[in-house]
Amino acid sequence: MRRTALLVCSLLTIPQLALAQTAAEPSAVAASADRLPSLKQEIAASVEANGKLTQEMIDMIFSFGELAFQEVETSRYVTEILEKNGFAVERGISGMPTAWIARWGTGKPVIAFGSDIDGIPKASQKPGVAYHEPMIEGAPGHGEGHNSGQAVNVTAALALKTIMEREKLPGTLVLWPGVAEELLAGKAYMVRDGHFKDVDAVLFTHVGDNLDVTWGQPNGTGMISVEYTFKGESAHSAARPWRGRSALDAVELMNIGWNFRREHLEPEQRSHYVIKNGGDQPNVVPSLASVWYFIREMDAADIEKNFGIANKMAEAATMMTDTTVSRRIIGSAWPRHFNKVIAETMSENITAVGLPKWSEDDQALAKGTQRTVKVKDKGLATELEKFKPPAEKPESGGSDDIGDISWAVPTVTLRYPSNIPDLPGHHWANAISMATPIAHKGATAGAKVMAMTTLDLLLRPELITQAWTYYKDVQTKEVKYKPFISTDDKPATYINADVMAQYRPEMKKFYYNPALYPNYLDQLGIKYPTLEKAAN
Ligand SMILES: [Zn+2]
Repeated sequence: MRRTALLVCSLLTIPQLALAQTAAEPSAVAASADRLPSLKQEIAASVEANGKLTQEMIDMIFSFGELAFQEVETSRYVTEILEKNGFAVERGISGMPTAWIARWGTGKPVIAFGSDIDGIPKASQKPGVAYHEPMIEGAPGHGEGHNSGQAVNVTAALALKTIMEREKLPGTLVLWPGVAEELLAGKAYMVRDGHFKDVDAVLFTHVGDNLDVTWGQPNGTGMISVEYTFKGESAHSAARPWRGRSALDAVELMNIGWNFRREHLEPEQRSHYVIKNGGDQPNVVPSLASVWYFIREMDAADIEKNFGIANKMAEAATMMTDTTVSRRIIGSAWPRHFNKVIAETMSENITAVGLPKWSEDDQALAKGTQRTVKVKDKGLATELEKFKPPAEKPESGGSDDIGDISWAVPTVTLRYPSNIPDLPGHHWANAISMATPIAHKGATAGAKVMAMTTLDLLLRPELITQAWTYYKDVQTKEVKYKPFISTDDKPATYINADVMAQYRPEMKKFYYNPALYPNYLDQLGIKYPTLEKAAN
């Protein structure tokens, strides 16, 4: 019921509001458009001047270190900042308690800024030290760098708000978080429930190790994440094993089947699994067992095809073991497709902003970390990546559920240089830079590009029209978006509740306190950078 009510709200209220306000201000737009270069300079300076907020947000969210669907403190913190700055916040959207949408402004265009907020299991890591040192052994942490994106977006949005108010520019800024991105389990629900219906363009930000944007299909995959739960019959494993039907046998047989079949799938597919439930103890035949698969491929049709094969494997395993199986979709992501017009516009601003000026300390931390993970110690990027057309045949790799949004609205992803090149990803080493000057400077550069690109979209309305022309005439000409989730699938918000309940009390002791410490390194008493572990 709740979902229906929200859907109505986002479909009707906002566009009506927008219509009422659109026609009023063309002169303000025309007058300001002449001053676009000077407004861009001004907004970049204002982002730079607000660096304290950027740093505080990055350090604070790093210290929360929350896993997918449990981003409670992070969402409370970011939405409070937005509300204090005049944004109207709607919480708990699409059945996800930690998801929200914040809006400010009136009328068209509606520009939506998104960025992910969740962390990685077992990635707890002290920032600013070039070796493995967990803050709390076994606890989650920001081993991807999702602690930095909301800082990029909020800093950019606040700078825009000041200029939009002064220049009386029509337009609506919409901020939202990628909840549970590490599970690819949030954004498809937001699209399904209509939260992007009135949006003209989505500017998404993601941590990277350069300042860049692409268009078309990037390297990487789309995917379906599904958990198969087998049900058998328990028995005493020694006294009457013949009475039992092992659900764990079914899990193992399904995995064997998949691993043999793997050789005969397209080379670009990626698939992996973990056994979430393998039974309770050896002398009880497992009556319940489950295995969780990620099934990835380069296009939607191949993802569906491989999903069908996995379902067949699961059925086959039940036949071999006289068990039954049910499945639950946990996440999904369409392969991404980014908008050419917005990417080209953003690329010009990237060239204007350039990479941050790294200090010797920044480079020393980067090189030390690269040596620790045994790659070439080339340090941080000092040259912008070239802006180039998409590869004719993109390569396989990871997925991001921004894919679903990119098929609903013209979308780009800005990658900003808050991390160190050549690290493993989803790893403690990727957390090392994420509450240091590297992350802060990288995010400031990203916020400048976001703010300047949004000014382009506000003051050159033809860009929005051209972006939609590309979306309609090129991107969706032959490929039509059909979500992998149905209207009945629900976000798996129970995931990680147990892990966070276990670690949160200990993690709370390390939450950043900006009233007492200028930055998180200072609070932790870490000398920046620390390259070698002190001998004791
Ligand atoms: Zn990510």
